[in-house]
Order: sequence, then C-alpha cells, then structure tokens
Amino acid sequence: MRCTICGRREAIYTRAYSGESLCESCFKKSIIRKVKAAISKYRMFEYDDRIAVAVSGGKDSVSLLHIMVEIEKEFPKAGLVAITVDEGIKGYRDEAMKIASKNCQQLGIEHLTISFEELYGYTLDEIVDISRDTGLTPCAYCGVLRRRAINILARRAKADKVATAHNLDDEVQTIILNMIRGEPLRIGRIKPVSASYGGFVQRVKPLCEVPEREVALYAYVSGIEFQDIPCPYAETALRNDIRNILNRLEEKHPGIKYAILRSAERLRPYLEKAPEVEMGICKICGEPSVGEICQPCQLLIKLGIIEN
Ligand SMILES: [Zn+2]
Ligand SMILES: [Zn+2]
Repeated sequence: MRCTICGRREAIYTRAYSGESLCESCFKKSIIRKVKAAISKYRMFEYDDRIAVAVSGGKDSVSLLHIMVEIEKEFPKAGLVAITVDEGIKGYRDEAMKIASKNCQQLGIEHLTISFEELYGYTLDEIVDISRDTGLTPCAYCGVLRRRAINILARRAKADKVATAHNLDDEVQTIILNMIRGEPLRIGRIKPVSASYGGFVQRVKPLCEVPEREVALYAYVSGIEFQDIPCPYAETALRNDIRNILNRLEEKHPGIKYAILRSAERLRPYLEKAPEVEMGICKICGEPSVGEICQPCQLLIKLGIIEN
C-alpha cells in the first residue's frame, strides 16, 4: 500500500482513527506535527523558555527528548536540558540512567541528575525495606518523592517548564482510573499544562495527544535506544486491565481514546470551579506545600526517616 500523504513510498502504518496510511518519513513528520499542534493548542511554552525534559530512559521519555530537540531547532531562543531522577533501584534504574545519559550525549543535551539517596538519605530499595510494616506501597511514595525530586532538579536546572512524557494512553487511563476509584473531581487535575505556584516549576505534557503505540513506533523507526524492562516495583494491576480494555475498544471503535480525552477536557472548566487550594511553605523542608507539612515530608515522617 502507498502512503496516503506523499503517494510515493510504501506505507508502514495505518492510523485507523484517521484513515491515513503512512510511510516511515511521513509518519515521523506527522508525530512532530501532532506534538507541535498540542504545544500550541495548550500554549505549553514561551518562545524563550528553558525547558527541562524529564527523561527516565524509557521509550516515552527518550522519544520526547528526541522530538523536543527536533522542534527546538525552530526556536533559537529556547533552551533544552534533560533531567533524570535516580530513585536507587538496583538492576533497573542504574541501567536506565546509562541509556538516558547516552541519548543526551548523542543529542548534545546537558544532563542533570539527582538521587533519592542525596535528597532523602536513602535509595528506593532501602525505603522499600524500611516501609515493610507501614502498609505503604512503593508506587505510592515513589511517585510523591519523585515529583519533589523533579521539581528541585528543575529549579537547579533554572528551567521555566518541565516537560514530562505522558502520552494519550496514560492520560486516558488516568481519567478512567479516577472514575473507578470514585475520585471524579481529580479528572480536573489531569491537564496538559499544570497550574503555576511559587516554588513549583510548571509541568507540561507535549505527548498528551500521541497514542502510546505511535510513540513506540516513532522510537522504533528512529532507531532510538531506550530501556524496555518494567520497574520491579510496578503494581499496575488495575491500570493494566484498563489499558487492555481501552486497546480493545480502540481497535473496534477507532478514535475512542481521543473521545475520552475530549470529554475530560469538556468537564474540566466545571471541575476547576472547585475551591482553589491555598499554597504555603512546608515548615519542615521549606518547599511549596498545601498544608503545614508537605506530602513528601508527611511520608518521610510516616516512614520514620525524618522527625516531625
Ligand atoms: Zn509518505
Ligand atoms: Zn516538607
């Protein structure tokens, strides 16, 4: 089959939701176009932003870095830096760190890293040991501690924005997860551009309109090296079920993931009318916080790592 865009080359991929069949070159260009369209639709950046790309070493974040490098060429006043958090997961994160840094070297991008050990005094492996009797799950606290680490690293990098690699599937799964868990109001927080508060570096999601399989195909046809083993602590049971259901639905009814994303977008203005949270400063660490003690510090207290 010929490519429906150029009509010359052989198509390698059919996009069921749009009916296009694309050759490798037109496919890659279409991904860049999709990302650029999302960036301008949601006003993610200023022309002179210094952008920190959060790179874990997985396919989404490494692809995002390559795509941002491509797009940044058109914005000479903008700057890029890659940031990586080393949670300290033996046999997993250490390898991903190498892959992340190798990609940065290839692309000539400055790469800053920070570790849980340096920030909190312990690696994630050690925290998992410490937390055995607390009933807390690794993903629950790793997420909170990593968000904090990314924010601190982004400030160190003097970044105006942090770009994270959440793709369309991630966003749609989170929307459904919030419905299932009885927290529909949280759907209002799933945004392509986060709210901005003092001390918080704003987060943006340039891949939010790119389906996961297209990110994977982009990485594959571009010969991008990434880590593809899952985190040993990942507990994705419910999210995985939702992923499978959504993929089956998408196959039968192409475009359904975009439809769910659009529904959440239409809901957002109503959900945002909920009272704004008051941001203050954590009395322990001095980082931005909703209450007197920030979420990461509350966790560290619960784990017995710091004292109240
Ligand atoms: Zn083509
Ligand atoms: Zn704190």
